[in-house]
Amino acid sequence: MLPVQKNDRLDVHIHDLTHEGAGVARVDGYTLFVPNALPGETVEIVVTKTNKQYGFARLIDVKQASADRVEPPCPIFYQCGGCQLQHFSYDGQLRQKRDRVVDALKRLGQFDVPVHETIGMPEPWRYRNKAQVPFKDEAGRLVAGFYRPRSHDIVEMKECLIQDERNDEAVQVVRDVLAAHGVPAYDEKTGRGVIRHVMARYGYHSGELMIVLITKTTKIKGVNEIVADILKRLPDVTSIMQNINPDKTNVILGSTNKLLYGHETIEDKIGGLTFTISPHSFFQVNPVQTEKLYGKALEYAQLTGTEQVVDAYCGIGTISLFLARKAAHVYGVEVVPEAIEDAKQNALVNEIDNVTYACGAAEDVLPQWKKDGINPDVIVVDPPRKGCAESFLETMVEMAPKRIVYVSCNVATQARDMRYLADRGYRLVEVTPVDMFPHTAHVETVAWMEKIEE
Ligand code: SAH
Repeated sequence: MLPVQKNDRLDVHIHDLTHEGAGVARVDGYTLFVPNALPGETVEIVVTKTNKQYGFARLIDVKQASADRVEPPCPIFYQCGGCQLQHFSYDGQLRQKRDRVVDALKRLGQFDVPVHETIGMPEPWRYRNKAQVPFKDEAGRLVAGFYRPRSHDIVEMKECLIQDERNDEAVQVVRDVLAAHGVPAYDEKTGRGVIRHVMARYGYHSGELMIVLITKTTKIKGVNEIVADILKRLPDVTSIMQNINPDKTNVILGSTNKLLYGHETIEDKIGGLTFTISPHSFFQVNPVQTEKLYGKALEYAQLTGTEQVVDAYCGIGTISLFLARKAAHVYGVEVVPEAIEDAKQNALVNEIDNVTYACGAAEDVLPQWKKDGINPDVIVVDPPRKGCAESFLETMVEMAPKRIVYVSCNVATQARDMRYLADRGYRLVEVTPVDMFPHTAHVETVAWMEKIEE
């Protein structure tokens, strides 16, 4: 018998926040997750679901509020799954993100090292350069929206406070135009319909704007008129693409792109370097913070101009080019072919010739480079959430670089991977969290590891 049952109403004390931003309460040793509750608060809840180990509850009333509780500025904050922390003061968010990093490093990596304060944004709103908005038909009306937390219900959204205004505007205009032309939304359940998502990508420094219509079907009826109507209302658009995704899947983009207007890419600048971005390429979504993140990675790499450097999981070669300006040579590896094409193009555009790119999984390419006699002094890694493959870490240890800089969007896998390295001759020196996604529960970290001299 569990200490609480579904539909129980009770008061609880919140003592922590999960990595997804939910409050954590304990009732007779049983853990309950309470979205929208903050550490230090006493709240009234109703239990909504119980599992063996833990359960979920809904916040009914805040009995004793945290000094960090603020009124969320977004009117749909409590329905939308995009942000999790708008009810938390920004200073509180930054402190809490640092605490989470300290805790994960300790618990999952047995590390007790200096963790700096989270580098935050002076103005933490309207920071996103990319919007990906799902569409649905609601009572015969085309609706652009956002997914409800942990669901596929689409909540209508006309404005997103963490999104650049130009992306918001673009999505609304595209919605109006598609609606006027009677283009039906794709329906996940029946597999019918046409428009799945609309992506808007804005070049923060270049001012270029890309719109991607992601469709189930190859054909969009009246596509030429649709493009003309979009351009009439958004004359600054530099690229309109169609991406075709016929599959029953949660993955947003399909594999085929078709150019409908303008260029196939947009450009943007980071730290004085110019980057070309395709619909499929990963490009950091917060341009202001990206500069700080890469700056920290470069600082930790401590390059003097003579080093051989590897940039693993390099995307379109952003970090690679930052490093290349201060190193003898940089080798970048990335698994997405379009991203590597962009990376090569970016090196050319910036007239940087001391980089070499390879397309493939980092865990496959690194051993090949080792065989080829490449001997890096510094390795920078920036893997996706799941972290590095163990075989990749193993090769890295064999290559024995003097320094490893680990950039991560998931401190749990980062702590795990760094523990592997720490057990094989590397010392974790320090870590800096960077807030790339204000008001969401995400935290990015940069870590500096040194080879221990024998
Ligand atoms: N450093 C880049 C990209 C970081 S995101 C930047 O800051 O922009 C992580 C990247 O790793 C993505 O581009 C993803 O496509 C790539 N990736 C994922 N798994 C990989 C693997 N096994 N090997 C190489 N790259 C991989």
